[in-house]
Amino acid sequence: MNRKNLGDLLLEYKLITQDDLDEALRLQSKGEKKRIGEILVELGKVAEDDIQYLISKQLNIPFIFLRDITLDDDLIKKFPKDFLINNRIIPLYETNNEISVATNDPFNFEAINKFKEITGKDVNVSACSSKDILEKLQHIKYFYLGQLVESLDSLIKNLKKSGFYRIDFIFDKTLKINISGSFAFQKIYDLNIGQIAPEEILKYFQKFEYGYFYELFTNTNSFILFIYPILELSNIVFINKFGIFPDKMPLFTDLNYWGKLNIFKSELPKVGYNFIPFKQFMQGENIINLIDNVSGSLPEGVMLPVLCESCKGAKCENCNHLGYSFEVKHG
Ligand SMILES: [Zn+2]
Repeated sequence: MNRKNLGDLLLEYKLITQDDLDEALRLQSKGEKKRIGEILVELGKVAEDDIQYLISKQLNIPFIFLRDITLDDDLIKKFPKDFLINNRIIPLYETNNEISVATNDPFNFEAINKFKEITGKDVNVSACSSKDILEKLQHIKYFYLGQLVESLDSLIKNLKKSGFYRIDFIFDKTLKINISGSFAFQKIYDLNIGQIAPEEILKYFQKFEYGYFYELFTNTNSFILFIYPILELSNIVFINKFGIFPDKMPLFTDLNYWGKLNIFKSELPKVGYNFIPFKQFMQGENIINLIDNVSGSLPEGVMLPVLCESCKGAKCENCNHLGYSFEVKHG
């Protein structure tokens, strides 16, 4: 096999100039973890089709449509995620003697040999397009994130009796994950997994049986996501920005909620739902939240809204122009 790299071959076939190659190499050395062919395509120096033609002509290997192939997650787990992502290479399947891999740069012999090293098997290489492999690598990235969230799940369950807790996902180039529990602030992960979407993290949490409150702050290339899992619905009664307090207080919060509880946010009371004025508990705050399905005993002083008797909801002086008056709930 001709041990040239893709850049040299593109030069030899006069598909790019030395200046093109230098420019691409300069970008690559600036830390962009991309293959040289990818950068040249992005710069518009060469077409993806030309690269594919060159690959099949030079190496005589099959070109596959990766998007039609279902990945084997168990096989992928055997290889370092960063190695796969940085080299744009994915294992597809293996037999007793062979492992099949796909890459958009089959001239990357170093990465291909690494598969031989790790498995001790012959490596069957197929070429695929950059677009396809980047899409599949996205799957790998989230597959690892999914695994991580799974392991957080057991950690969360262990924290059940440890006071308030919250999980922070702070993304800014890397993903930092902190867990707050028992008044100890513990940093547990700092991951380099590339750009991720906070919605993906929220989605992973929806696989679990419990619901969660969350807060999301996003910026151009960064985000902060706070997740407050709700493990014991009857015990969790007070949640605010600074944590979850399993206590015998009414539940109210201004966080967003996902899960089975019928919790919704509203600034106005609704007939038939417990109405708990936030400021009754938090001096100076003027936030009202409504909660339904809060089981267990509600404390003295919780108010239930009833249609104002004077105006029947039309809003008058007697009801402070709300259309409601309140009955204090006892017991
Ligand atoms: Zn009224």
